[in-house]
Amino acid sequence: MTTIGFIGLGNMGGPMTTNLLKAGYEIKAFDIVPELLEKSVAEGATACNSAAEAAVDVDVLISMLPASLHVEGLYLGDDGILGNIDPKTLVVDCSTIAPGSARKVSEAADEKGISMLDAPVSGGVGGAVAGTLTFIVGGAALALERARPLLEIMGKNIFHAGNTGAGQVAKICNNMLLSVLMTGTAESLQLGVDNGLDPAVLSEIMKKSSGGNWALETYNPYPGVMSGVPSANEYEGGFLVDLMIKDLGLAMESALDTGASTPMGSLARNLYISHGKDGYGRKDFSSIQRVFTRVTAKK
Ligand code: NAD
Repeated sequence: MTTIGFIGLGNMGGPMTTNLLKAGYEIKAFDIVPELLEKSVAEGATACNSAAEAAVDVDVLISMLPASLHVEGLYLGDDGILGNIDPKTLVVDCSTIAPGSARKVSEAADEKGISMLDAPVSGGVGGAVAGTLTFIVGGAALALERARPLLEIMGKNIFHAGNTGAGQVAKICNNMLLSVLMTGTAESLQLGVDNGLDPAVLSEIMKKSSGGNWALETYNPYPGVMSGVPSANEYEGGFLVDLMIKDLGLAMESALDTGASTPMGSLARNLYISHGKDGYGRKDFSSIQRVFTRVTAKK
């Protein structure tokens, strides 16, 4: 039986461990928040007193932490856990972090003979609970095949994006495009409404025309057009504006690193930052609709 070390039991890591435990895997778990650790132990995980303890005597070590700083802090430096990990253990970091950070940690792992994958996810907390996440993996194909049975328990789609760091690059490219699509969709819907159109009728027309896109198909930002989406519930739940701002920041960092031109991503980031400052940081990212509604309301 495969034993798993799992570090980071937050909104995403918590339900991911629940699904692994349900599938019968043994988990050595750790989080710096004791309540989260207790919850996992109540579900059948073994509590560890430190990240280093969760990283030993396991076949696979998974981490799900907030950002680059936390991942580098966990694995690297004098206090980093890479020194404790047996080279037979496969390391899978599922956090969304800068591609440069992912490469730095993987290269340090490689120097110690440890295989490491970057495997950020898409699908949000709902996907983590339902076990339907999309894993976007960077690293060696053989290492991915070792991780696949576990990823298939936590997710539905598993993509190999390329070498180390490629998972993170693909994830931030997708989220940058998503931010642009959502902002453009909200802007167009408001233009139609301001000119007397019904947003539901306009959505149907654009869905079947050349402006059709994922936001119109499954995540309409205009309240009242679709049920069961955040716009139908005061933009509660879903994917937070704060997280979109974080991912757009990673996209800008990567653009600076390589000299890529990202004018649309940069504009979307600025819009989301000012929207967050208006008190929407903890709302779903489709609430960007309110930016355009507010302009109309002021007239
Ligand atoms: P979260 O803040 O809820 O969870 C992170 C957990 O890591 C926390 O419980 C925290 O206590 C723990 N932690 C931090 N440093 C630690 C350390 N050194 N040792 C042990 N535990 C430590 O965040 P989340 O929503 O679960 O997101 C995790 C990652 O997944 C992020 O990179 C995020 O961008 C990405 N992501 C989130 C979503 C989402 O909808 N929440 C969707 C896709 C991807």
